[in-house]
Amino acid sequence: MKDTLKLVILPLYRIENEYSFLPYSFLSNSKNTLNLEWLEANLSELDYKFDITSISIEGGEISLLSDIYFDLLFNLLKIYNKKISVLTDFVKFNRSLINNADIINVIYNFNHNLDIVNKNIKAAVATGKIINIQSIDIFLQDNFYEKITTLNRLKIKSWKIIPYQKTKLNNIENYNLKIYEEVLINYRKLKDQMQFSYLNDLELEGIIKTNNFPINVVYITPNNKFGLGKIDKNNCFYIEEYETINELEKNLKKYQNEQILICDKCKYKQDCLAERYFNPDLITSTDCNGHKQLLKIEKKGK
Ligand code: SF4
Repeated sequence: MKDTLKLVILPLYRIENEYSFLPYSFLSNSKNTLNLEWLEANLSELDYKFDITSISIEGGEISLLSDIYFDLLFNLLKIYNKKISVLTDFVKFNRSLINNADIINVIYNFNHNLDIVNKNIKAAVATGKIINIQSIDIFLQDNFYEKITTLNRLKIKSWKIIPYQKTKLNNIENYNLKIYEEVLINYRKLKDQMQFSYLNDLELEGIIKTNNFPINVVYITPNNKFGLGKIDKNNCFYIEEYETINELEKNLKKYQNEQILICDKCKYKQDCLAERYFNPDLITSTDCNGHKQLLKIEKKGK
């Protein structure tokens, strides 16, 4: 049986306005754009070696790319017959993204509640597509009720809170995973006010099955390389890049084996929420970035 992987394609890292706060936009100042001929040639080999369970197109500000680029990208991904999700900040409305993506995740920054973004979200919702909003925990620490009201007005299907990722280019002091967990719990108290699904809650309750153990997210970067998410000694997220699939395979195995050893005694492996990265230094007997502490509370409540 082939090993599984979740593929995240990053066509670019760049952003063009201060509104954007996309998870991967602070990884590099590179102006590169992923070459689609390289992708076509290498994806078939990746698919031959691995069982690709999902494909997500993320990055910097993907809405900066042209409809022609997306038409070509979706055409070459279609043959793999997987659900394709995208992550955009929606500063621009791309026809091809809306027509071709199965799930549209919109990163929503409440600190810059732009009319154009709200207009584009409403237009996308009107097409009947699945629109999920994602927001980063550091922007959600106050005015909880107002934020829920804003989301209710947008008539979205679901909302997910994602943890801030410190990188070399973006380093907010004093951030720790407790902030994420507190934010999640605070919004849980307002569940009854939400006219949309609160995805973090559904994951914690096990209604949405999220088993991220061991982490199997593989990146394709704007530099035409494969990559795996890592944390450096300063606790900054980065993507370690590889030229070949053999190198990728070797390192994926190595890092997964390390995680399997470190998490050996964990009772929550089947529900592990450690998403895109894994920080061995953050694992203690009570807590970790798989959010063992939250899972513990949830299991106790049952
Ligand atoms: S220790 Fe944490 S990261 Fe490891 S499997 Fe358990 S929940 Fe996941």
